[in-house]
Amino acid sequence: MRAVDIIHKKRRGETHTPAEISFLIQNYVHGAIPDYQISAWLMAVLWRGLNEEETFALTSAMVASGDTLNLSAHPGPYVDKHSTGGVGDKTTLAVVPILASAGVRVPKMSGRGLGHTGGTLDKLESLGGTRTALTTEEILAQVEAVGACICAQTSRLVPADRLLYALRDATDTVESLPLIAASIMSKKIAGGCPSIVLDVKVGGGAFMKTLEEARTLAVLMINIGEAHGRKTVAVLSGMDVPLGYTVGNRVEVREVVSLLQNNAWAEPRLKTVVCTLAATGFHLAGRAPSFADGVALAEAQIVSGAAFEKLTEIVAAQGGDPEYLAHAAKPPVAKVKRDIRSETSGIVRHVDAEAIGLAAMRLGAGRAAKEDPIDPTAGVVLRETVGCPVTAGNIIATLYTGSEIAAREVAPQVLAAFEIGQSPSPPSAVIHEIIGLHV
Ligand code: URA
Repeated sequence: MRAVDIIHKKRRGETHTPAEISFLIQNYVHGAIPDYQISAWLMAVLWRGLNEEETFALTSAMVASGDTLNLSAHPGPYVDKHSTGGVGDKTTLAVVPILASAGVRVPKMSGRGLGHTGGTLDKLESLGGTRTALTTEEILAQVEAVGACICAQTSRLVPADRLLYALRDATDTVESLPLIAASIMSKKIAGGCPSIVLDVKVGGGAFMKTLEEARTLAVLMINIGEAHGRKTVAVLSGMDVPLGYTVGNRVEVREVVSLLQNNAWAEPRLKTVVCTLAATGFHLAGRAPSFADGVALAEAQIVSGAAFEKLTEIVAAQGGDPEYLAHAAKPPVAKVKRDIRSETSGIVRHVDAEAIGLAAMRLGAGRAAKEDPIDPTAGVVLRETVGCPVTAGNIIATLYTGSEIAAREVAPQVLAAFEIGQSPSPPSAVIHEIIGLHV
């Protein structure tokens, strides 16, 4: 078999055998096929696509490129969760402790933010001292002791994805549904959990801009999960406006703490998504006979304080400062704080998620390139969101940053992200649909 023949086949739009895909991935990971040949193959895949069998074979080859987490030594139930990424998407920091506080084990491996979307690891690390680089042994020990961890993908799990993702990023081949599905699901399958909850974000601030695209990706990922014997459910949730009031790192942790402390200012859309994901996890884990029972259990874990206590335990186990969480209600200590005031009176009709995500990135909360440093105190706090009445001169958002210049540049972009009109906009769904939940 030769790589060039496999590339040629996909270039002509033909179908690969599993052996051809396995040959490419194995030899690439072992350095026997160079980046330039895989780049050419990725571009052919982007244009010609992979059918479901080819996508299954790619996922299996990627899983086989490294270790898998063996969870059999300790009793479950185990659930994993993944979000395709959005603006202000802090749900992992709430869902993991909610599940773990009710006895569902969650060995959660997360990613970093890139571009306008944030990453859970950056949020967790914004609590000085929280370690996210855990070894396989540390993950298993922490999940046994505390019930959950939130950490980075270990270098031994799916090395093929690390290599392929870097190439896709550099060759503009990220946006291929089979490549995205295989990338996400190979990591979930290697993570070892028998049940997987997928949060597929849909809208202007997400990878998937339309419901149709999101549905196609969700069904493909569910089929991959089921083919590997995993119960997989996808929640399609709206990402046209930022999720919650905060976009950044420490500001988002603060909002999660507030939600888990059951404070009255919790943003209703955020709470709905968190409780939907947790309820789905409880149902898959056999802890809730119906979805409605799962929602009730999720809410009970918040109201009792058990979920907040569990988040504190997780952070402490990873070397973070639990005292910070206890006092997280304080605003972040950023060098520059700038209020954005509305220029008109009316009702907030829309807040553009992508624009706010890009603004937060420019303030220092995210990365334009993978190596960029993060300012944990930077971010945007929305003081008003969709449906709120405002008067000219009202503060509608506050920027936090270490750079006066960034604040000055970003301020007009944040103002422009708000659409203020004279009549309310039609309500937009926060949960579009749940696929694969059998109740
Ligand atoms: N997230 C991933 O893990 N992989 C992709 O390809 C896209 C989003």
